[in-house]
Amino acid sequence: MIKVNDEVVNKMYYVPDGTDRCGFYECTRCQARFLDVRIMQRMVCPECGEAPDMEIGPDELMPEAEENAVLQKILEGEDVERYDRLLSLAVTGGDFEWV
Ligand SMILES: [Zn+2]
Repeated sequence: MIKVNDEVVNKMYYVPDGTDRCGFYECTRCQARFLDVRIMQRMVCPECGEAPDMEIGPDELMPEAEENAVLQKILEGEDVERYDRLLSLAVTGGDFEWV
């Protein structure tokens, strides 16, 4: 075990270090998969949900963000770190299957 490498590898990507419970979500629109410490049935997708679909004028109301991300699984304990690592590798490691 090398202490320094452990710290780098164990850096959490989606949720804060030490998170012991979080939700695993998948977006039904863009298929993004991510973790969030908030656990709810549906939430606004961080990938596609916050960007407006069309240009809106200053006098128009923001379109209501759609909650496209659906809770797949509640992760606890070691699963949090495992999924965080898997997902962050998929995002940063050149695997474009999900993009
Ligand atoms: Zn999305």
